[in-house]
Amino acid sequence: MSVIVVGAGPTGLMLAGDLAEAGVEVTVLEKRAEESNLTRAFALHARTLELFDMRGIADEIVGQGYQVPRVRATMGGREAVLDMHHPESRFKYVLTVQQARTEVLLQRRAERLGVRIQRGAEVTGLDQDEDGVTLTVRTGEGERTERATHVVGTDGAHSVVRAQLGVGFSGHSYDTHIILADVRLDQDLPRAVNPFMGSDGVALLPPYGDGWFRATVWDQTRQAVPLDHPVTPDELNESLGRITGGQLSVAETRWSTRFLSERRQADHYRVGRALLAGDAAHVHSPMGAMGMNTGIQDAANLAWKLVAVERGWAPPWLLDTYEDERHPVGRATLRLTDLILRMAVAPAPIRAIRPHVVPRLLRNRKVSDRVRRLMSGLGVRYDRPVQVADTVSVGQRVDDLPLVSDGERTRLYELADPTRFTLLDATEAGYPAEAAEPWADRVRALHVRAELSEGADVLLVRPDGYAAWSGERPSADQVRTALNEWTGSP
Ligand SMILES: Cc1cc2nc3c(=O)[nH]c(=O)nc-3n(C[C@H](O)[C@H](O)[C@H](O)COP(=O)(O)OP(=O)(O)OC[C@H]3O[C@@H](n4cnc5c(N)ncnc54)[C@H](O)[C@@H]3O)c2cc1C
Repeated sequence: MSVIVVGAGPTGLMLAGDLAEAGVEVTVLEKRAEESNLTRAFALHARTLELFDMRGIADEIVGQGYQVPRVRATMGGREAVLDMHHPESRFKYVLTVQQARTEVLLQRRAERLGVRIQRGAEVTGLDQDEDGVTLTVRTGEGERTERATHVVGTDGAHSVVRAQLGVGFSGHSYDTHIILADVRLDQDLPRAVNPFMGSDGVALLPPYGDGWFRATVWDQTRQAVPLDHPVTPDELNESLGRITGGQLSVAETRWSTRFLSERRQADHYRVGRALLAGDAAHVHSPMGAMGMNTGIQDAANLAWKLVAVERGWAPPWLLDTYEDERHPVGRATLRLTDLILRMAVAPAPIRAIRPHVVPRLLRNRKVSDRVRRLMSGLGVRYDRPVQVADTVSVGQRVDDLPLVSDGERTRLYELADPTRFTLLDATEAGYPAEAAEPWADRVRALHVRAELSEGADVLLVRPDGYAAWSGERPSADQVRTALNEWTGSP
């Protein structure tokens, strides 16, 4: 019983770490011989940080990043502000931090937990049968095969796993190439993600907090420039100056690239024993900084389900919920990033009304809350699988509840185990926690003092932090039924 993860990007490293934490044998095959040092994604959103918190690694990355509490868009001489000071989370900001640092964090965790990462190993072929998957792998020493019970393709936008499975990647490429660069500016900017929307493009400028900014520049006058043309300092300066109406100029550039943005999603996330996650499953514009975050959240959703299958206790429907739950999230991400982009590079009539409409829209609490929760991942909720009981809050994200456990004040995410369910038993007598004892290998039962959701005094939380079941003074039998539905017989 073993899993092979193809690709050591952030999605693959998160997934491999979780599998190893649960004791599943896991190998990561990565075609690059060297570790990545690319900047690429520049931000971690609150839900990703919450998932890191449940794994005890959030504080380390927060210490390396810069906390940015709002998005401040400038257009036609007006400003529109989106507040990212999330009241429901411990992480009340967007954390700007280079992708390479996130990868190092996840790689160290994976290695600590015993994951084997083989670099210079490129997957070129895939065959599956009833019992497992066989991969063809090309290395410096030649070609060989590897076999596993499950394979996950986290091998990025040009996924070989996806191609080998014959899964379509529906969507289209955007016309304009994006310029990405890390720059110092001659001017200072507020502590915000700063999009500037001009008449022929948009420039996004989040700060790293050390004087450097990530410039993402979508300049429609440069759309014919080939991808392999290096970005020159003059070109960047001219684009940025024009789009921001002369407000900004570049003092120094340390890294730049041209990037073809696409909007595509895999038609399926699962074919038999092979699964897709991260950029292999969805790609979209970098507006909103959601790509890497969505991939890491895919991994958190998939890992415990694969653990359940590998361990043999998964109900037959469980692994299918990965696609059922994450495909709609991917679709919503594509829609939101597309809408932001269309707003940013809109035709003239929309550009004329944009400075009047967007600030007003974002002042509407309902609208701004919806966008904020979508972007940060905090608003994700899942439908109840038909196979389980319908109780209050099934599928909702569970807050980082303050708890008293064993006489100590603590909080849910500190106690959470990303590979096991958590049963919070806030009854006086503690009989639900006792009833859960036979499931101890997959359910961590805690007798606590806590205010649980909407009158419930027992709450079953999935390993990825969503509510599975809740009860108000349930009988021990009702607790056992819920555990049976989600985690099989003990
Ligand atoms: C130039 C660039 C700029 C970007 N900028 C932003 C941004 O500003 N904001 C944002 O949110 N996102 C950005 N992204 C997207 C973000 O980087 C991705 O969403 C994120 O890296 C996805 O992680 P992943 O692990 O799913 O895939 P990847 O990070 O792509 O990792 C896939 C891994 O699989 C390996 N691999 C591929 N094929 C094989 C094979 N056949 N065998 C073995 N290994 C293989 C690759 O070498 C790679 O290491 C950018 C992407 C690029 C390319």
